[in-house]
Amino acid sequence: MMLGCFAGFVIDADKLLLMAGSFSFAVATLLVLHRFRLSTKTKVGIIYSHLIFLFFPFVVLTTDVACGIACMSCASNLGNLVALALPTTLLFSTVAGFFIIPGFYMFFSKKAEIRNIHVLRFVKAQSARMKIRAPRIYVVDNANPIAFSFRSFRSMVFLSAGLTEMLSKKEIEAVILHELGHIKHKASVLTMSVSILRFFSPLSLLTRFHHDSNEEEIFADKFAIKAQKTGKYIRSAKMKIDEFEYHKKLLGT
Ligand SMILES: [Zn+2]
Repeated sequence: MMLGCFAGFVIDADKLLLMAGSFSFAVATLLVLHRFRLSTKTKVGIIYSHLIFLFFPFVVLTTDVACGIACMSCASNLGNLVALALPTTLLFSTVAGFFIIPGFYMFFSKKAEIRNIHVLRFVKAQSARMKIRAPRIYVVDNANPIAFSFRSFRSMVFLSAGLTEMLSKKEIEAVILHELGHIKHKASVLTMSVSILRFFSPLSLLTRFHHDSNEEEIFADKFAIKAQKTGKYIRSAKMKIDEFEYHKKLLGT
């Protein structure tokens, strides 16, 4: 009986294959990330997949050894082993993604932190009013009008150069307020652990301006409207972006 369960301690060919396969996927996802120009959301998804494939073999190995020592059936049953290892892998990847994904943007995107004293003062004053830590604001080298933010230990808001050139000062403030609304909303939802499952993906780290019209977007818009005491600027900002995208589609670029 004892011998039987210790036999499971030995890593068999199936387990090795599983771990090797997972590592190959981790390498493949990295290559995809470096080779192709992808949208921010896709990149975040790929980095998350990469973390999962990277952590999985280690978790499988640790679980397998633990099962062997505890003489549990998972040591000999591959299905049981995967079922045990997967939740731990997802948890590790989520926690790691929380730090790594915003970090990836910090190091690999062409961007510059905004030094404009008016913008900095505006962000500081509005963040203090909303009782959140002021995020860092960056301008990303991209001609398309895009804005997105990361909620992490230090939140960051990214505005594209195209966006800052296209919009007026008040419209840019409306976009920043919208993003601050996201950061505030996510911070408050995070403290209510009931909703914690919604955050079980680093994709929730990322919010993009304008592209989805869900509950959260409406909340962020309302935030901007309340702070500016008018919906004029957030509306005109969205209209300008819509027009740009419409013409871009017409030109087929
Ligand atoms: Zn938004």
